[in-house]
Formats: sequence, structure tokens, C-alpha cells
Amino acid sequence: MQSRGLAVHGANSPLVPFEFERRELGANDVSFDIAFAGICHSDIHQAREEWGPALFPMVPGHEIVGHVSATGSKVTKFAVGQRIGVGVFIDSCRTCDKCLAGLQQYCDNGMTPTYNALDSEGNVAMGGYSNTFVVNEDYAVHVPENLSLPGVAPLLCAGITLYSPLKHWGATSGSHVGVMGLGGLGHMGVKFAKALGATVTVFSHSPGKKADALLMGADHFVSTADPKELKNYESQFDLILNTVSANLEMNLYVKLLKVDGTLVAIGLPSKPYSINVGTLLTARRSVAGSQIGGIPETQEMLDFCGKHNIVSDVEVISADYANTAYDRTVASDVKYRFVIDGKTF
Ligand code: NAP
Ligand code: ZN
Ligand code: ZN
Repeated sequence: MQSRGLAVHGANSPLVPFEFERRELGANDVSFDIAFAGICHSDIHQAREEWGPALFPMVPGHEIVGHVSATGSKVTKFAVGQRIGVGVFIDSCRTCDKCLAGLQQYCDNGMTPTYNALDSEGNVAMGGYSNTFVVNEDYAVHVPENLSLPGVAPLLCAGITLYSPLKHWGATSGSHVGVMGLGGLGHMGVKFAKALGATVTVFSHSPGKKADALLMGADHFVSTADPKELKNYESQFDLILNTVSANLEMNLYVKLLKVDGTLVAIGLPSKPYSINVGTLLTARRSVAGSQIGGIPETQEMLDFCGKHNIVSDVEVISADYANTAYDRTVASDVKYRFVIDGKTF
């Protein structure tokens, strides 16, 4: 299938228009016209080889939403015209205990990422910065009709990545949840934690985001420009979700946890953390990690969004603005996710 999109041809190259072939529709495949594709910071890390050697040409994009254009002969889950979403992976082994439990993101044999990877046929997988997509129906999800479509795209990565740890660590009414970094991921954490009934505190190094954080539902906003501020919040949190990839002094945040509290790493820093064990054991605190979410939980998250009318706050852009959007994302200057209009590829 002939497709148009944006690709990077090397770590120091910009996104440029690119034409390529997607595989023909298989019996279990669904093709769709992409309506919107979100720009995740992980796209930038990979396009710029900040996570090690990458596969080029690379069409990034793993926050993808659109309308089904055709279905393979064995497809049962989707019909032409329906809304459809695809996130961070397009395949996994389907046989390990993680896959069987719907935790495909932790597949023993490695999930197949949506781009910067080889697909099951050995071809370079091309992501969502493009006008069309082809995917096995088992790795796509339904999108509630009531949600505004541009704001849905970021749910496929930023949304599920924050929903999953909030559910896993049991955020509920009465919980006090901290969210570090009010970016694409962080702002979804605020919305979900609030919808689950928690009290929410944002830790941000951008004081200008305070009003937005409160509008999104945060109860408190802590400017981390002066780290001494954090001392006022020690031993108050059940759960802290760290979406920041900068190398922060993590012990300052571990101290903010109550007895049995957990700090979850979500942003991937370039250097290992150093954690003071004394801070952990004096309050049975934990430091953990969490990666996106599986297909069943992604569907559950979208249904939750439909019920609570939750979408991402987005700036819709055309494809020719994507390089500027990358630079603005790196500068923490996005409100709160850039989404490329699929009609502009
Ligand atoms: P983003 O939109 O750029 O947001 C990151 C936020 O971190 C910024 O908005 C900023 O918030 C804060 N920040 C940036 N630089 C900082 C610094 N020097 N010091 C302190 N805070 C800083 O990025 P994103 O798309 O949300 O992604 C965040 C991270 O999560 C990325 O590393 C991404 O690769 C990773 N990620 C992980 C998963 C997973 O499954 N675990 C999934 C998707 C993405 P403030 O302005 O409020 O401080
Ligand atoms: Zn992502
Ligand atoms: Zn598996």
C-alpha cells in the first residue's frame, strides 16, 4: 500500500517528506486512514539516537488514531468506517505468560515496537507520522465515539503509560498522588489521578504551568526551581509518578513518600539513579518502574476516557511544523501534546 509521511534519515537529520510502501492487507489485518498522530518525547529520543543505534529511514509515531478503510477476510473486531487506535507496539509473541495475561508490553520475547524495529516479515516497521496504517487487528483498539479525535491520539501512549501505574498501585479516593513533570505524559497523569478520586500534586520546573495544572484538576502545584521547596512535602505521598527524563536528585523525591509509598520511574534518564537505602527502609518505601500498558488495559483506559470525557490537551499542527514541534517539546514548550493532522502528510 503506497503511503506518504515524514521520515528521519539519520540521527542528525530533520524530518522530511517520505513515500514508502506498507504491506498489503493480510487476512487478520486492518488498514486505516490516519486522522491524527501524536508526538511523544520517545519519538525524539529515538529519531536522535538518544537510546542507542536506530533503524533509518525512520517514520516515528506511536500515538495513532484514524478510521478503518479496509478489513482482511478473517477480521472480526473492526468494520470499515470505525474509529481505531494503535499505540507503542504492533505485535508480540502471543504465547508467553505475559502475552497470555494481556501484558504484551512485558513479552518475554520482546514486543514489536510500532517503528524503529523489524516487523514479523523482516521489514522496517514504519510508524504513525503518515497518512495510512496497516496492523493486525489484535494490536489495535476501539475509540469511543464521544471523544474529540485529536485529543485521543496521545492516549495511545501518554495516556496508557500513566493510567497503568495509577491502576496497578491502586490510586483511588483518599490517595495522594504526585506527578513529576507536566508534559505529554504528566498532564494525562493529573487527569487520570483526579478522575480516580485522588488528591494530586504536580512537581514542575516550569512555574508558568501552574494555572494549567490547576485547571486540569491538580490540587497543588510545587515549583521545583528551588529544591528546598520539596522539604515541605516529606512523607505525604502514596504514589509519585516520575515522567521526567532529566537526571534529577531522586532521593529528594523518595523522601516525599509515606510509609509503603512508591515512586514509579516512567521517564528514562540517561544515567542510573543513586538511591539512599536508609530513606527506603525507614518507611518501607519502594522505587519501581512501569512501561506503557497491554492491549486489554489500553482498551479499558479508552473506555474510561469515554465515560469520564477525558482527552489530552493538544496543539494540532501540520506535518511541515513537526521539526519545530520537536524543538519546542525538548524545551518543555508544549501545551501539552503536539498532534499532527493526518491530512497534511
Ligand atoms: P515531555 O512532553 O517532553 O514532558 C516531559 C516533562 O518533563 C516536561 O514537560 C517538563 O515538565 C519535565 N522536564 C523536562 N526537562 C526537565 C528538566 N531538565 N528538569 C526537570 N523537569 C524537566 O515528554 P513526554 O512525552 O511526557 O515523555 C516523558 C518521558 O517519558 C520521556 O523520557 C519519554 O521517553 C518517556 N516515556 C516513557 C514511557 C514508558 O512506558 N515508561 C512511555 C512514553 C514515554 P515541567 O515543565 O512541568 O517541569
Ligand atoms: Zn510514547
Ligand atoms: Zn510474549
